[in-house]
Amino acid sequence: MPKNEKKKKQSLKRIVANNLKMIGKISKHSPQLVLLMIGQGIFYGAANSVEMLFLPLVLNALERGEPFEAFIPLFALGLGAIFLRWSYGRLNYLYFRPWMVNRLHYRMHEEIFHKAMEADLACFDDPNFYNDFVWAMDESEGRAVKVLENLQGFISFIISLGSTIVIMMTVNIWVVLLLLLRSLLSFLLNKQWIKLGERRAEEQKPLGRKAAYVNRIFHLSDFAKELRTTGLSGNLISEYDRAKEDELQVNLSYNKKYYLLDWLSTALSIIPNCVIFVIMTVGLFSEGGGVTVGDFAIVISQFWRIGYMFDNFGRYFNGFSENSLYIEKYRKFMDYVPTVRSGDLPVGAFESLEMKNLSFKYTEDGDYVLKNVNLSIKKGEKIALVGYNGAGKTTLIKLLLRFYDPTEGQILLNGTDVRLYDLKEYRDRIGAVFQDFKLFSATIAENVLGRPVRSEEDRRAVLEALSRITFENKLSDLEKGIDTMLTKEFDDDGVNLSGGEAQKVAIARTFVRPYELIIMDEPSAALDPGAEYALNHSIAENLKGQTVIFISHRLSTTRMSDTIYMFDGGRLIESGAHDALLEKGGKYAEMFEVQSKNYKKKEASAS
Ligand code: ADP
Repeated sequence: MPKNEKKKKQSLKRIVANNLKMIGKISKHSPQLVLLMIGQGIFYGAANSVEMLFLPLVLNALERGEPFEAFIPLFALGLGAIFLRWSYGRLNYLYFRPWMVNRLHYRMHEEIFHKAMEADLACFDDPNFYNDFVWAMDESEGRAVKVLENLQGFISFIISLGSTIVIMMTVNIWVVLLLLLRSLLSFLLNKQWIKLGERRAEEQKPLGRKAAYVNRIFHLSDFAKELRTTGLSGNLISEYDRAKEDELQVNLSYNKKYYLLDWLSTALSIIPNCVIFVIMTVGLFSEGGGVTVGDFAIVISQFWRIGYMFDNFGRYFNGFSENSLYIEKYRKFMDYVPTVRSGDLPVGAFESLEMKNLSFKYTEDGDYVLKNVNLSIKKGEKIALVGYNGAGKTTLIKLLLRFYDPTEGQILLNGTDVRLYDLKEYRDRIGAVFQDFKLFSATIAENVLGRPVRSEEDRRAVLEALSRITFENKLSDLEKGIDTMLTKEFDDDGVNLSGGEAQKVAIARTFVRPYELIIMDEPSAALDPGAEYALNHSIAENLKGQTVIFISHRLSTTRMSDTIYMFDGGRLIESGAHDALLEKGGKYAEMFEVQSKNYKKKEASAS
């Protein structure tokens, strides 16, 4: 972080603005919680003042030789303040607060989910954004409560401070000044303490990230197979050990600094206290010292507490400033404006799709992943994008779906730049199944439909879509049919599908609605030959009027495509029908030749 940026972030104005912003946000979700905490702050401050006043009032009454009856209202006031503070505090702490905090937590989390959905896909490639995003997910609500706690403490502190200064000024002004000096020192030391914490967190961050990665690998089922077969587990465990060992060293070096700072802080708080003790004692025992037994008793019995209260000023101020740093991150995340924005044109029926001089790179200083691509697709056409790994095929699909916008050039739908269309409407017209598709912990029907089943018609549509991809055999094994839950996250009776079965459910998503454009990235990668045949048959029979874009290496798929586009190193190098490209004898023919040879070899060794 550049130095001046850090300074700017920590300016008083920024600290106040950030804390107020968070209080505003909490008020929106749970105004009762804000009122409760502010009320508690005022109440505690008032109770503290009454407790403080109690002793001087009693001593004064004693000095005046008041009768016992005069003490009864004083005792009632003191005890009442203690009791009310205790009972009000417990009621809030054990009953109202947990309920309101829970509600605040889930409402804030809901807002974060919506924000995450808005974020550009590119954000997830950026580790800084990703870290802020994970932080916002994990911690923002906790931090929101800390802001309120700090505010509550601060209000209570200000009220107590006011009454304390008034009482102490009547006793001895030097005592007040010394206490102020003591708290100034403790404020400065507290600042150092926080700085140390920030530096330690900064040093630990990359180590923590490494350890968290290894942690994830060992508990996520996605990696369980590779861990057991690749032998990489040993390396990962060593990396984990190293990260943890380094973390330990960082901790150790900071613990020494913390110890020294703590020692200094204790010494600096004891010295002014001793000076106050000497001033009061000398004043009491010297003639004309101006200190009465009552004054002496007040200062000696209260100055530890008053000193502690003054110290709190530093704590509250530093608390606001520490919260501000975190709120800054939260604001950065919540104020993020996506670069992929929606236009406002309604989307007309699909007629044609065109890519014009399309170029793209993922990062400003990165290499072009697509360069000057020109192609056009007509309604009802089946096209295949082919090429070796890394040629740019998936990137082209990501641009088509507007996960990213082109660096140069345009994508035109019916002759209009897709950036001008309403984004949701545009995406809703495209059915896509990705190579790394994901199924959710929901029923099979919900996974296919993309929403809850609402009618018999919905059920029929799901069954029809699944039967087109030969999933009915599996369905007949499942007691609850399309209402079977996938995965066991939400239901112990949930089912884990095999790779091929899961791919069928993902493909069924594109069959369940009359999408105008369907994109299938390696749709038959996990399918057996029977299911692959059924898929191709279904595409030929049922998607006649629909436009389909395949990314596929399978000849069975490319052969049935009207046009094949061959990519190499981000450039479109050949296009045409299967037979024409074979005749041309270019790169496509070369790839086809290798595949046919391998296929023949496999057949020969099998016979
Ligand atoms: P294909 O689908 O043809 O295998 P891709 O479109 O997935 O190729 O990838 C094309 C190039 O873009 C590759 O060099 C890949 O490393 C790079 N690439 C893909 N995704 C990203 C990303 N999120 N950030 C940076 N580079 C990427």
